[in-house]
Amino acid sequence: PVVTRFAPSPTGYLHIGGARTALFNWLYARHFGGTFLLRIEDTDRARSTQGAIDAILDGMKWLGLDWDGDAVFQFARAARHAEVANTLLATGHAYRCYATTEELEEMRAAQRAAKQPLRYDGRWRDRTDAPDLPYVVRLRAPQTGEVTIKDRVQGPVTVQNAELDDFVLLRSDGTPTYMLSVVVDDNDMGITHVIRGDDHLNNAFRQLVLIRAMGWDEPVYAHVPLIHGADGAKLSKRHGALGVEVYRDELGILPEALSNYLLRLGWGSGDNEMISRQEAIALFDIDGVGRSPSRFDLKKLENINGHYLREADDPRLTAIAAPLIATKLGRDLDTDQQAILTTAMASLKVRAKSTLALADGALFLFESRPLGLDAGASALLSPEGLVLLGNVRVVLADSSEWTAAALEDAVKRFAEDAGLGLGKVAQPLRAALTGRTTSPGIFDVLVLLGREESLGRLDDCLT
Ligand code: GLU
Repeated sequence: PVVTRFAPSPTGYLHIGGARTALFNWLYARHFGGTFLLRIEDTDRARSTQGAIDAILDGMKWLGLDWDGDAVFQFARAARHAEVANTLLATGHAYRCYATTEELEEMRAAQRAAKQPLRYDGRWRDRTDAPDLPYVVRLRAPQTGEVTIKDRVQGPVTVQNAELDDFVLLRSDGTPTYMLSVVVDDNDMGITHVIRGDDHLNNAFRQLVLIRAMGWDEPVYAHVPLIHGADGAKLSKRHGALGVEVYRDELGILPEALSNYLLRLGWGSGDNEMISRQEAIALFDIDGVGRSPSRFDLKKLENINGHYLREADDPRLTAIAAPLIATKLGRDLDTDQQAILTTAMASLKVRAKSTLALADGALFLFESRPLGLDAGASALLSPEGLVLLGNVRVVLADSSEWTAAALEDAVKRFAEDAGLGLGKVAQPLRAALTGRTTSPGIFDVLVLLGREESLGRLDDCLT
């Protein structure tokens, strides 16, 4: 059975690199009918915050990455980690090192001077005395031979054991190190596949040595190349290494769009760009993960978002857009207005690439009279435009029915008689009705606003 995990450190938001790691682990587990676990690595007490934990959990829920069982909190397991260190002491796989900080600094200074790699020199490895002093527990790592990871993404990667040091398992205050905690937790949680960023590849060699010292099952490793910016440099905030909530709130991205984009960022299956969650579960495997870093491309994300906006159902989009509109208006939409918004969605969503643009495009429906006009709309309501508008108003007011078909019929006839294109006639009409130069189809706008509001808005401009 497949058991994967996502193991974020709650020292910041859930950034998109982390979200992609979570997604890959989730998909791998779901593809194989396995289990996906969440472990919060909160052992850095100074930097871990509840706010970050909440942001990570919220982000995962928003992306639809549900984890099985309860989240495991690593710090709560410190006693178990220490227990394993003591087992390793008892079996001779670890030893106590009494070297002081000053002593180790001297050692490193000497190594630096001799241009040697900075590495613990094993000075307590074979000593049998036990002074009454603080100590750390170090792994007795093999000094000869080599360790090879058959990484599912990177291929086989080998390191000489001579390059690994006797790293610390327990600090002098008895707290476990990251290296120990990860290995113990992965084992105790039954993790079969470790899928994570390739910045952890170096740790994996040490972790493997520790796993072997305990005689535990080795997980399959898959170290995924990191996400880079469009310029090829490592992703930074400037490039979009932001929390997923920023994509939701400040860029107006839908979760399925971000999820689809992150999937395609570093994983491919044919040319198909749009892959639904169900398809992704069916298709995902580690073989599709590429070996070179992928480049983050906001334009592409926005295009994918536009696709999912068009696919999304209207009541859901109303639920997303209504609060955004309310914020802009400074008042909530009532039930009738929400119904109008849902009706309008079909024509609004075809031109929006973000939920923010969607809300913005719907704003005119609910703005109070007299409407503010943007510069383009003002220009269309020139003296000439207003004459045209006055004539169209008469035609509209005379229409026996206030339906898109009847209104279109009447306005078309008017345009023909006046020897004008329909577009020409629609321009000042749109400007007066929406305060803008772009909007859904003008007859839809008339119907959405209703007769009274429409004629009122025209009158506001005409008087
Ligand atoms: N907590 C580590 C991080 O956030 C991940 C550890 C792991 O995946 O093994 O980078």
